[in-house]
Amino acid sequence: MQTIAHWLDGKAFAGTGGTTAPVTNPATGVVTGEVTLANVADTRAAIDSAAKAFPAWRDTSLTRRTQILFRFRELLNERKEELARLITAEHGKVLADAIGEVSRGLEVVEFACGIPHLLQGGYTENASTKVDIFSIRQPLGPVAIISPFNFPAMVPMWFFPIAIAAGNTVVLKPSEKDPSPSLWLARLWAEAELPAGVFTVVQGDQVAVDELLDNPVVKAVSFVGSTPIARYVYQRGTAAGKRVQALGGAKNHMVVLPDADLDLAADAAVNAGFGSAGERCMAISVVVAVGGAADELVGKIAERAATIKTGDGTRGADMGPLVTRAHRDHVADYIAAGESAGATVILDGRGVEADGATDGFWLGPTILDNVATDMSVYTDEIFGPVLSVVRVDTYDDALALINANPYGNGTALFTNDGGAARRFHNEVEVGMVGINVPIPVPMSYYSFGGWKNSLFGDAHAHGADGVRFFTRTKAVTTRWLDPSHGGLNLGFPQNR
Ligand code: NAD
Repeated sequence: MQTIAHWLDGKAFAGTGGTTAPVTNPATGVVTGEVTLANVADTRAAIDSAAKAFPAWRDTSLTRRTQILFRFRELLNERKEELARLITAEHGKVLADAIGEVSRGLEVVEFACGIPHLLQGGYTENASTKVDIFSIRQPLGPVAIISPFNFPAMVPMWFFPIAIAAGNTVVLKPSEKDPSPSLWLARLWAEAELPAGVFTVVQGDQVAVDELLDNPVVKAVSFVGSTPIARYVYQRGTAAGKRVQALGGAKNHMVVLPDADLDLAADAAVNAGFGSAGERCMAISVVVAVGGAADELVGKIAERAATIKTGDGTRGADMGPLVTRAHRDHVADYIAAGESAGATVILDGRGVEADGATDGFWLGPTILDNVATDMSVYTDEIFGPVLSVVRVDTYDDALALINANPYGNGTALFTNDGGAARRFHNEVEVGMVGINVPIPVPMSYYSFGGWKNSLFGDAHAHGADGVRFFTRTKAVTTRWLDPSHGGLNLGFPQNR
């Protein structure tokens, strides 16, 4: 059984003690390794390594930094299937989906390759007589990334390509459930000739997270995970004086108006509801059927969902297992709670016959109709293959439902009415909106982030927000010709 530990000073580091946690293949239920959970001393060692590497990396030319990024991009593109296999082995998502995850992360690396352009400042000549002003963007120092289990490669890649390109050094604390992709990425950086200490990995749990939040050497924290932990990370990190962006959980609604193409909407609901077994922060978990479309729509969704093959992600299944047995059972409990609260079970995944080992953490696609807003299947983020259908009479009812929800990550509207679409994207209180697009994940050159309890802080991930988050601006005022010899004057300087 393999031991999965840290990456420090450009090489593997076993750590000096601390506890361990099992790592499981969700498709077999077999424990395949154990991950070392860092103690405070090892977390400090990772932070110190990042601090030591910072001055030289900050002063490394943009040309050199960009060359390393391009090399990393080439290596990642060549070997993305290798990384995808590691993701499937510890997360469970099917291989095609894991390759998709890596590809979306790769897009952020490609965006960061344009860092010389992204860091360009401004210059103003003669702001006052023979006085010029320019602005520059400078890196912050060592920064921390704390990531969730559901995208062990893509989510860290939302942040570290831009952080590193901008001249920061990074300490990544991945999820303890699927820790191996982080070390694979660290080795790839070394192969791309990133100097030792610029990218460091510390495996761990709350002990490591608390040290990253409290240690004054760490200047910024990018967190992605569930809402309670996001709130905690934001509060503790900002109390320690850091810049924090903390992306939290979600409950994404897909509204279907009666004029929509119902086949398109049904395909979208199934793909977005059951892709990655519903373990995506942009998964659709609630279909809001408006007016007369509901019966036909539910029929079409159920027909399609019944054809999904659940099984081992390496064997060509459509949908893999859930990440742990505990999570599988937790999601199954929600289905039972919905049923006993009066929801109609249209499709029940609890008895699924999966194409995989009997000890895999299987749960098939499940559809609950006539879900009411006070049922736990509606109020809570389930994070599994469970699609709830809520029926409402009008567009206004659907909008009110979404805007009253405490989460605001993603949403979608299906319609052929341009006016309704225009109203929706203008009025809905959600950070990422799709019109006839069920998972509206923005491209790397736009920013990714939700509203309300789906994000704490004011910077979204990647795009312009990412560059702003990982840099601070400095404005420099200069006078070289005819320096003033006006003698002493304690008045506030005025421009002439
Ligand atoms: P999680 O909150 O359990 O864990 C996220 C990270 O926090 C992990 O690295 C974990 O080790 C650490 N952590 C867990 N408990 C902690 C504690 N008590 N103190 C300090 N650190 C702690 O989330 P998860 O189960 O790994 O991921 C699923 C969640 O992430 C879902 O809620 C999902 O919606 C959310 N998510 C959100 C986005 C987004 O962009 N908004 C993207 C992906 C996932």
